[in-house]
Amino acid sequence: MRTKTVFDMDNTLIPNKYYADAVDEFVLQMQRIFNGEKTAEEISDLQREIDRKKLLISGFKEDRFALSMVSTYEALCTMMNKPVKEEIKRISYNIGMSVFDEEAWKKNDLLPGVQETLEFLLSKGHELYLLTEGVEKWQKRKIEVTSLRKWFNNEKNNYLCVEGGKNAAHLLQLVNNEVAKSSYVGDKKTRDVSLAVDAGVLPIYIPENDPRDNKFFGENKDDPLDATAIELRSIIELKHRYEEVFQK
Ligand SMILES: [Mg+2]
Repeated sequence: MRTKTVFDMDNTLIPNKYYADAVDEFVLQMQRIFNGEKTAEEISDLQREIDRKKLLISGFKEDRFALSMVSTYEALCTMMNKPVKEEIKRISYNIGMSVFDEEAWKKNDLLPGVQETLEFLLSKGHELYLLTEGVEKWQKRKIEVTSLRKWFNNEKNNYLCVEGGKNAAHLLQLVNNEVAKSSYVGDKKTRDVSLAVDAGVLPIYIPENDPRDNKFFGENKDDPLDATAIELRSIIELKHRYEEVFQK
């Protein structure tokens, strides 16, 4: 039985629509400012392209996303031969930084079924771990301000927040190389399943259904799933299909 269970955090245990919502808000503002001269898709495509470039160059830096909005605004001004206004740069930056709103994290808390599933796994003697990537300070804060702190905390030393991007070595470190006993649960083929496959750990894939989030990660739900992976519709299936999933 696989009793070491590692979870991805965003959109696996807690909802993270904040980035996609911020892009929607930014696009609305840009369309208003430029009188609809560019379509919503053109603006969001440009912002995503700029943001991904910044991510490649500097990793998960705190205001990378906010700066991508400022750069997108500046690029739109250049394209349309309009002057850059400091006030609009500030508005764009603030929309980007709104993703770090602790009050919103507290309010949204866990995804449906998470609490019941984690408690059930503990009752079955599982060791629970969490592996996430992003700005370390804020990823840790998300654990502290949501109910996640109940299961993942400093005392248990059972989580890892990786700023430079998570990989198989981080997963192996968490489970102390006990691959045959371990599984990794996540919502992306590109970030979670691939990492588990690299580590030789059972990948459990619970797809995120928000196309905006998947687009950012270059995630295509139609791409083939690794043959070793188990796909579930919802996290509660870890409980309802317990024997079948963890005996694999
Ligand atoms: Mg995720």
